[in-house]
Amino acid sequence: MAELAGSVKPGAGERVRRPRAAAPGAAPAVTEGGREPAGLGLTSARLRERMVERLRADGIRDARVLAAMARIARHEFVDQGLASRAYEDTALPIGFEQTISQPFIVARMTEALCAAAAGGRVLEIGTGCGYQAAVLAAIAAEVYSIERIRALHERARHNLRPHRLANLRLVFGDGLLGLPAAAPFDAMLIAAAAAELPAALLHQLRIGGVAIAPLGGERQRLCRITRVSDSGFAREILEEVRFVPLMAGVL
Ligand code: SAH
Repeated sequence: MAELAGSVKPGAGERVRRPRAAAPGAAPAVTEGGREPAGLGLTSARLRERMVERLRADGIRDARVLAAMARIARHEFVDQGLASRAYEDTALPIGFEQTISQPFIVARMTEALCAAAAGGRVLEIGTGCGYQAAVLAAIAAEVYSIERIRALHERARHNLRPHRLANLRLVFGDGLLGLPAAAPFDAMLIAAAAAELPAALLHQLRIGGVAIAPLGGERQRLCRITRVSDSGFAREILEEVRFVPLMAGVL
């Protein structure tokens, strides 16, 4: 993937204030150059355990989120040349100027959705490499994930195939339109930043449903929006973040 290097602003899909410095020596390489040869499975399992310990220390409490992230091999969702960095608490480029979100952000967003999403129907906007979708599929009954870049949609399909997640549907399209055919949703996770979310999208939440999204321009804040009535929405600010932009149309 020659388009990977250099084209991504560091920090997209990340928290702005990092909770604390990474533990020294915390993340030895998985193996040279990527996927583990058979027999080294323990190496990445141990790195994932450490990642989960870090998430716990940074305030992630939900056992379902921690269990899913301990199990799903994040290094299998990034380019082989970046696999050795997959368990650092950082966003990484996935090509096409997009990033896989930092583990802390994946955990934080999933945790913030959990009460609404557990056992329910969830819409993700911005499949990217598919990692967040796999984490959601461990928690929700049904997950729909939309991606606007066809090549990333195909890559996510490839990455997710071995996971055989019967409750996850990948959709190629413009997530700003939502997915009226599958609405209403109990929860939405928007993995890219917008000034505001379109009303037509938010109306695909059921009443009581929750959306997590980075909102803003220069300064973005992770927000939790709850549909409290037919036309009423409540908003909480969770924290300052930096995400790639939500874009209209497909590529
Ligand atoms: N959840 C992803 C993070 C991907 S980064 C992961 O785990 O890897 C954000 C993604 O949102 C990018 O792939 C980008 O192409 C996508 N995106 C941006 N605008 C979109 C839109 N309108 N509809 C669908 N996807 C969109």
